[in-house]
Amino acid sequence: MAQASGPRPDQQSDPKAIPSIDERADPATRPPSVDKLARSLSDSGLPQPLRVEVAREAIASGQVQAASKRASERRRQFLTPVINATGVLLHTNLGRAPLAYSTPGGASNLELSLGSGKRGSRQKAIGDLLATATGAEAAMVVNNCAGAVLLVLAALANTKGTAVSRGELVEIGGGFRVPDVMRQSGSRLVEVGTTNRTRLADFDEAVTKDNVSLIMQIHQSNYRIVGFTEAVPLGDLCGLGVPVVADIGSGLLDAACPWLDGPPPAWLANEPAARQSLEAGASLVLFSGDKLFGGPQAGIIVGKADLVETCARHPLARALRPGSLVLGALQAVTLSYLERRGHEIDFWRMATTPLQQLKDRADQLASQNSNAKVVSTDAIPGGGTLPGVGIPSVGLEIAGDHVEFLRSLDRPIIARVTDHKTTVLDLRTVEPDDDGPLHRAFEQLLTR
Ligand SMILES: *Cc1c(COP(=O)(O)O)cnc(C)c1O
Repeated sequence: MAQASGPRPDQQSDPKAIPSIDERADPATRPPSVDKLARSLSDSGLPQPLRVEVAREAIASGQVQAASKRASERRRQFLTPVINATGVLLHTNLGRAPLAYSTPGGASNLELSLGSGKRGSRQKAIGDLLATATGAEAAMVVNNCAGAVLLVLAALANTKGTAVSRGELVEIGGGFRVPDVMRQSGSRLVEVGTTNRTRLADFDEAVTKDNVSLIMQIHQSNYRIVGFTEAVPLGDLCGLGVPVVADIGSGLLDAACPWLDGPPPAWLANEPAARQSLEAGASLVLFSGDKLFGGPQAGIIVGKADLVETCARHPLARALRPGSLVLGALQAVTLSYLERRGHEIDFWRMATTPLQQLKDRADQLASQNSNAKVVSTDAIPGGGTLPGVGIPSVGLEIAGDHVEFLRSLDRPIIARVTDHKTTVLDLRTVEPDDDGPLHRAFEQLLTR
C-alpha cells in the first residue's frame, strides 16, 4: 500500500474526537497518541479495532489513566461462561438450562438424505425423535416457544378467532404478551370467561357464536391465580370440536419422568407435561427447549401430523427455523431421554442430585475456608416454571456482600445476597468441577 507517508489507518480518526494537543504543553502531561494508548491495551483481550475505540474514548474524556479499566469493562460484555451459584436452575439471565454440548464442526447432513442422496428436511430426524419421546404423530422445531406460538396461530388461525381464557392472557417475561403475539399472527383474539373463573360453557359459546377456529390454553408459568377460581381442564376443552393448542411452556416431556431412576420429584407438583397433554386430547402442544426439557433455546411443536405439516409449510417457518448447532444439541438431549439416561441431561442431574452429595461438598469447602459456613437453602427450578416451588439444597454463606467481587473474577461467580449482609452460594446449580474455583474465590476474599 502506498501509504508510507500518510497517517496510519487508526490515526485517521474524526479530528473532533481527539482534543487538540497544545504544542506548548509539558510533554509529560500531553495525552499519548491513540495508537500508543491502544498498543498499551494489547493484553486486554479486546481485538485491535476495539482497543483503538477504547483508547480514543479515554483520550476524548480526558481520562487516559482509565483506559485499561474501560477496556476490561468492554471485555466483560463478551459472552463468557460463569458459575451459577444462585440456586436458580433455569436462570433466564444465565442462559436458562445448563447444557454442555460440543460439535465436531464441519459439514453435516442437515438437509441431505444420506439414503437417497436427495435434499432432505432439517426437521425430519429431530421431528421423529421428539414425536416418539412425547407420543405425538409428528413434531417440528423453531427458534423458541414464543416463535412456536406465533407460527401456530399464523398457520392455523390466521384471520379467524382464537379463544383464550381471560385468566391466561399473560405476560411471560421479556415482553412476551399473549395478546400482542396473537395480534402479530393475524388471528383475532376471542377472550373467554373472567380473570379468575372460566367455565366450559364460556368456551362453548365462543366456539358456536364467534367463528373460533382454535382454542389455546396457556400455562400459567410464572404466576398463580388463587382463591375463588375456576378453570377448564384441558381434556374438557378438547371435546368442543375445534383443535386445542396447549402452550405448556415449561417443557416437561412426561409427567412419569421415566428418564429418572426414582419417581418424579415432589417439586414437579402439577406441572403440565407434553405426553399427558396430548393424551388429554390436545391437537398440538408447544414448549420451550431450554426450560425443564434441559436443551438449547428452541420452540418445540408436537401433535397431529396434518397440523404440524400446515405449520411447517407456512412462510414464517422458514424465518423461524433453527440451525444445525441447535438441532444437534436438541438431538443429543432427546436421545438421552429416549435412552432413559436423565443423568446425561445437565438440568436433571443438577435438579436431582441427592442432598447428601451437596452437603458433603459444602462440608469439604467449609473445612478449607474458615470464612464459609454451611447452610440449608431452597433452590428453585426458575425459568418461569413452577412458581413458589423449592428444591431442598445446601449452600455456603459468607458474611458481607461480595457479589460484585465474585462477578469480577476471570471466571465470574454469580451468587445471591440476603439483607445486604450475607452472601450465599447455592451448590445445587454449581458443577462439582467448579468447587475448585469456589474455594479459590473464598481464599481471595480472606486476603482482600
Ligand atoms: C416460557 C414460556 C414461553 C416462551 O418461551 P420461549 O422459549 O422463551 O420463547 C411461552 N409460553 C409459556 C407458557 C412459557 O412458559
